[in-house]
Amino acid sequence: MIDYKNGDLIITNHNKNKILKQLSKEKKLVNLKFKTVKQFKSLLLGSYDDKAIYYLVKKYNYKYSVAKLLLDNFYFNKKLKQELEENNLIIKEKTNYNRIIIDNYIKLDPFILDMIKDKEIIYKKNSQNDYKHKVYEFNTIEEEVNFICIEISKLLKKTNINKIKLVNVTSEYKIVLKRMFAFYNIPINLKIDKDIYGTSQVQDFIKNLKTTKNIEESLNNIEDGEIKNTIISVCNKYINFPDFEVVLYCIIENLKNYKIKEKAKNNAIKIINIDEIDDDYYFILGFNQGVLPHIYKDEDYLSDSEKSNLGIFTSIEKNKFEKEKIIEILKNNKNITLTYKLKSTFDNFYKSNLIEELNLEIIKPTIDEFNYSNKYNKYLLTKKLDNLIKYNEKDYVLELLYSNYKDMPYLKYDNKYTKIDNNLLYKYLDNKLLLSYSSVDSYFRCSFRYYLSSILKIDKYDNTFMTFIGNLFHYILSICFKDNFDFEITFNDYLKENEFNNQEKFFIDKLKNDLKYIIKLIKRQDTYSSLNNTLYEQKIFVNKDSNIKVTFMGIIDKLKYEKINNKTIVAIIDYKTGNPIINIDNTIYGIEMQLPIYLYLSNNSNLENVEFAGFYLQKIINGNINYKKNIDYEKELDKLYRLEGFSNSDINLLNKIDSNYINSNVIKGMKVSSNGFYAYSKVLNNDQIKKLIDIVDTKIEEARDNILNSNFDINPKKIGNNLKGCEFCKFKDICFKKEEDVVNLDEASYLDFLGGE
Ligand code: SF4
Repeated sequence: MIDYKNGDLIITNHNKNKILKQLSKEKKLVNLKFKTVKQFKSLLLGSYDDKAIYYLVKKYNYKYSVAKLLLDNFYFNKKLKQELEENNLIIKEKTNYNRIIIDNYIKLDPFILDMIKDKEIIYKKNSQNDYKHKVYEFNTIEEEVNFICIEISKLLKKTNINKIKLVNVTSEYKIVLKRMFAFYNIPINLKIDKDIYGTSQVQDFIKNLKTTKNIEESLNNIEDGEIKNTIISVCNKYINFPDFEVVLYCIIENLKNYKIKEKAKNNAIKIINIDEIDDDYYFILGFNQGVLPHIYKDEDYLSDSEKSNLGIFTSIEKNKFEKEKIIEILKNNKNITLTYKLKSTFDNFYKSNLIEELNLEIIKPTIDEFNYSNKYNKYLLTKKLDNLIKYNEKDYVLELLYSNYKDMPYLKYDNKYTKIDNNLLYKYLDNKLLLSYSSVDSYFRCSFRYYLSSILKIDKYDNTFMTFIGNLFHYILSICFKDNFDFEITFNDYLKENEFNNQEKFFIDKLKNDLKYIIKLIKRQDTYSSLNNTLYEQKIFVNKDSNIKVTFMGIIDKLKYEKINNKTIVAIIDYKTGNPIINIDNTIYGIEMQLPIYLYLSNNSNLENVEFAGFYLQKIINGNINYKKNIDYEKELDKLYRLEGFSNSDINLLNKIDSNYINSNVIKGMKVSSNGFYAYSKVLNNDQIKKLIDIVDTKIEEARDNILNSNFDINPKKIGNNLKGCEFCKFKDICFKKEEDVVNLDEASYLDFLGGE
C-alpha cells in the first residue's frame, strides 16, 4: 500500500477515480496531482495547440495530418523545435511535485526516466497471485457474443449490472454486441460515437462559410443544438487567426475527425480498457493472436533504430512489456472469463499464443442453452431454416427450436406500419418538431413516406450538379439588386473550390448568360410594380406548439410590399428551377400547397394587415426555345419568364404589382377586356385568399396532430386516376405498397372549396 503525501504526482491512465475513492474511504486528505502518461510527457517536453497547426499549415502548406504528425514528434526534431520556440508555439506547464508515483503496468521511456532522475520515484507493485482462467473457443463472433450474453444473464441473478464489464471490445464486435445484447435485453454502453462531418448541417455550414466567410452567419441555419455546439467549439479554436483560407481548411479537417460522444446510460454493462481490471466481473473478448496482446510494429514516425538511440522503447520492447502486462493482469485478477472466435464476417483468426504459454484450459461449449432470450432463439431458428432450405443442413438445434416455435412466421412479410409509442417518438424527436412545405406535402401524399424521409431521415441528400445550379441562381437573385453588386466577382466566387467536368463547364457558361438576362428582365418587370420595398430569402417561423414544440418554417424568395395607411400590400414571388406547379386544386387534401403556403407565411410574418396583390412562381431556368421562322427571340424569352400564379381580382391591388395588367407582359395569362378578366386569367378575391390561408392552417394542424399521434400508415393518395402519393417517391423498394393501401380521393377544384366561378 502506498502512503500518499501532499505534493505527490501520480501517473495513471485509468485509475484516478479508484485512488480518490480509496482515499475518501480512508478519510485521508492529501493534495495530489494526477497525470496520464501523455500529459506527463507534455509536462516535461512541452505541448502544442491549434495555433501551431495553423502556423505549419500556413507557412509550409502542410496537410493538416502531416502538421499534426510533425508536432507530435517536435521534441526530436531540433530545427522544428527551435522554430516553434522562437514563435512561442510550445506550451510549457508549470507544476510542482515532490515524489512521482507510477501506476501498475506503466513503463516510462528511458529518456523520460533520465529527465526525472533527481526525483523520488515510487512504482506501484502488483499482487503476487496466480489465478488460472478457462478460455472458451467459438467458431464465430456471434456464437462468442451469444455465450457472453448467456453468462451475463446468469450473473445478473447474483450481482449488480454495474459490476460487469467487457474488455478488449474492438470495432468488429460493436455491431454484433448491439444486436445480441438487444436480443437478451441487456443494457450496454457501447461507446458508439457519432461522426458529424457527413451530416447535412455540417455540409451546409461549410458551404455557407465558403460563401459568406462569416462563421456567425453560416451557423444561423443549423437547427441541431448538439451539432451547432460542436461546430462552435471547433470554430472557436481558430476565431482569431487572420488567413481565412487556412482557417477554413483547419475547420474542415477538424470537423472530419470530430465525433459526438454517445450519452452513457445508467445501469448498463460498461466497456473498459484492460488496465482498468480490478475486482468486478470481466469478460475479455477476442483473446486472439495479434489482438491480445496487441502487437506494435516498426512503422512510427521514428524508426526503431532512431528510438533506440534516443532512449525510447522500440516496438520489440513494447511488445515484450505488453505481453508481460497481460500476463500480470490475468494472474492477479480472479473473476475473468476469456473468449475467442475463429471467424468473423470478414476474417479468420487464431487463438492468442498466451493461452499455451500460460497453459490455460480451452473449452469448446456447445449451444444448448435456450432459456434466456426468445428473440434470439427465433432469430437462430430462421438462420437454421435458411441453412436447411439452401444447403439441406439439419441439426438438433433446428429440431429443438422448430418444435418450440412452430407458429413463427418464416418467409412471410407484413408491410403494415406498427404504431410507435407517442412518448418514444417525442423522445426521439427531442421534444421538437419542425414542419415545412415539403414535409407536410410528403405527409399528406403518404404518411409512411413522411415517416421514412422526415422522422427516420433515410433518404440521403444528393448534392447533384442541378441542385448546385439551383442554389447558385437563388443566391445570386437574392443579392443582385443590392447596390455595389458585382456579377462577375460573385458568380466566380461561388464556383470557387468546386470541380466541374467539361460538360458542366459548358453548361455553366451558358447558364451564366441566362442568369444575366433574367436579372435584366426582372429589373424590367419591376418597373411595372409600384410596390417599392423588397425582401429576399425571407425565413418565416410560425409557432404551432402542441404536446411538444412545433414550428412551421418556410422561406420566401422574394416579397414585394408597400405600406398604405394601416395596410401592407404584398406580392410574393418564388423562383423555380424546375417546372412551376400553380395548380391549387389539391390544397384541400394538403397536397401541392406551395403557393397557398406562401400566403400563409406572409400572413404570419412581421408585416401588418397584409393584403395580397398576387402570389406567383417564376421560372429561372428554361429549356431552349425551338427555332421558328420570324420569331423575336427576346420576346419569346420574356414570355417564358413571366410570373405564373394567382392575382387579386381587386384591380386596385393588382395594379400594384403590374400596372399593365390589362394586357400583361409580366403575369402569364393576365388579360382584361371590357367584360372583365379573360377566362384563363387566374384571379382570386380577398375572401377566397383568406379561405385558402385558413385551409393551409387547418392542414398544417392536421398533419402536426397526426404526426404527434404517430400515425404513419402506408396510405398513398390517388386523386382521380393520378397516384399523387407515390409521385417521385424514393421508397418504392421499401414499403411493399399493396393495392388496398391506396386511398382513393375525388378530383377537386379550388372553385368548389373556395367558392366562386
Ligand atoms: S412508394 Fe408510395 S406507398 Fe410507398 S412509401 Fe412511397 S408514397 Fe408511400
